[in-house]
Amino acid sequence: MAQYGSEVFHGYDKPHQFTKGINAAAAKTITEVRREIGVIRETDVIVVGGGPGGIAAAVSAARGGARTILLERYGHLGGMSTGGLVNIIPNLADIYGEQHIGGFCQEVIDRLALRGAACFPEKRFWGKSEPSVVDTYLKANMMHFYIRKNKAGEYVVLYTAVIDPEVAKDEMNTMVLEAGAELLLHTWVTEPIMDGSTVKGVIVESKAGRQALLGKVVIDCSGDGDMLPRAGVETTDYMVPGSRIAQFGFIYWVCNVDLKKYDDFMNTEPDKYKQTVQQITELGGSAYFSRGLLDGQEGVIWVHRLIGSLNQTDPEEMTHIDVAARRQSVKNWELMKKYMPGFEKSFIMLSAPQLGTSGGRRIIGEYYLTGKDMDTDRPFDDTIAVFADNDRGALSLRYPRTYVPYRALVPKGTEGLLVACRAFSADHDFSEFFNLIPHCMCFGQAAGAAAAIAVKDGVSVRNVSFPALRSELLKHGAILP
Ligand SMILES: Cc1cc2nc3c(=O)[nH]c(=O)nc-3n(C[C@H](O)[C@H](O)[C@H](O)COP(=O)(O)OP(=O)(O)OC[C@H]3O[C@@H](n4cnc5c(N)ncnc54)[C@H](O)[C@@H]3O)c2cc1C
Repeated sequence: MAQYGSEVFHGYDKPHQFTKGINAAAAKTITEVRREIGVIRETDVIVVGGGPGGIAAAVSAARGGARTILLERYGHLGGMSTGGLVNIIPNLADIYGEQHIGGFCQEVIDRLALRGAACFPEKRFWGKSEPSVVDTYLKANMMHFYIRKNKAGEYVVLYTAVIDPEVAKDEMNTMVLEAGAELLLHTWVTEPIMDGSTVKGVIVESKAGRQALLGKVVIDCSGDGDMLPRAGVETTDYMVPGSRIAQFGFIYWVCNVDLKKYDDFMNTEPDKYKQTVQQITELGGSAYFSRGLLDGQEGVIWVHRLIGSLNQTDPEEMTHIDVAARRQSVKNWELMKKYMPGFEKSFIMLSAPQLGTSGGRRIIGEYYLTGKDMDTDRPFDDTIAVFADNDRGALSLRYPRTYVPYRALVPKGTEGLLVACRAFSADHDFSEFFNLIPHCMCFGQAAGAAAAIAVKDGVSVRNVSFPALRSELLKHGAILP
């Protein structure tokens, strides 16, 4: 496993003991009855899942001229970035302040900023050690996302944005529809339709029953790679216990917190403050939180409760985590309300509608990114994205950028399928650092553009002309070598 820089190391949770319940008795099987099901669409590009990867893929494919439909199981877009309440878009520039992620991701931030629904440090501060800006993020407990050390050992500010999840859901709908893609919400995609090793469409389940959609290219943006097992794609879900991707997250927001009173208590009675924190901890809670950074949300705090797990696609495990983490979270807030000055009138505003999932299946694609690909300055011939490498201490200072080839989105041996979400082709080490919201938006933008080119040129997705793809990405603001 790659080493974190000491400055950014986080104590992640170790996996708990997972015991199978109902599924343990599943040695018995039944045969499903063959039946005719209705085809509700015949189109060019089908995008499965409307998270960061999926919205980028749908917009990009539609802008490229392909008839596109985006399928999402919930009633909103954004995936973890909205429904998971993990609304921080980090690492858009490197420690030196040079921006690497532009394109669709920057467009989302720009559009939300115009509506007062995104905030980020001003460009003049990126990579700089302006004390007032550094202090703001340290005070908000946002060091992990905003602050690193430069070569001189000074704290510098990163280009990281925070978005308002509710406005983002609306803006993402608008972007998808404005681009000309169709949107179908409340629709679970259950499996690919296969003809030999070629994906020809997908099966969906919804209140309307079981239905089919046919398409020339399917882009799996389900986060967990839900299309992969039935598409015959080789995958891995290897995770190092206790690492970032081996965590579920149960996120909740508390509002009506009097942070001035809290600060006064902490600053004027530090011993009593420490005792209170200790008391809450001894009673089974945690006094740790981040301050909401959005304008007008001064009394809002965010709690990211992480729960270690190596079984992130198992509904029994997810049920166990949801029940246990919810109980723990409410208890935690009750302790804060009872003992911590400033929390007396607070209440839980919202717990994330989607359980936070970081790991899951990943493909072994035409190119398999590994930890070694982080320790080089050389781009690929088919580079579709450049990522700022900010999370590996001294190594990040030496190698501030990391390159991703188009081949990491192309599964081996299966035709008609691209993968543009955290299930992209990478080992544990690479995934640990580069499967975040901005990264998945870059995968989505590239996969959508490639799918549209494949349809237009009548070629397989693996044979798309890279100069044409590169030119399409540059046209829409991507920053490429
Ligand atoms: C606790 C936690 C904190 C995190 N913090 C941050 C952070 O601060 N910043 C950051 O950048 N990243 C963060 N991440 C990581 C980040 O949220 C994800 O890596 C990112 O959202 C992945 O995007 P995605 O498009 O691959 O998948 P997702 O965001 O998971 O989106 C997948 C979408 O597909 C839909 N879907 C799934 N399966 C199906 C199906 N079968 N049929 C139809 N629809 C389906 C889902 O509903 C969802 O909308 C965090 C993750 C966790 C768990």
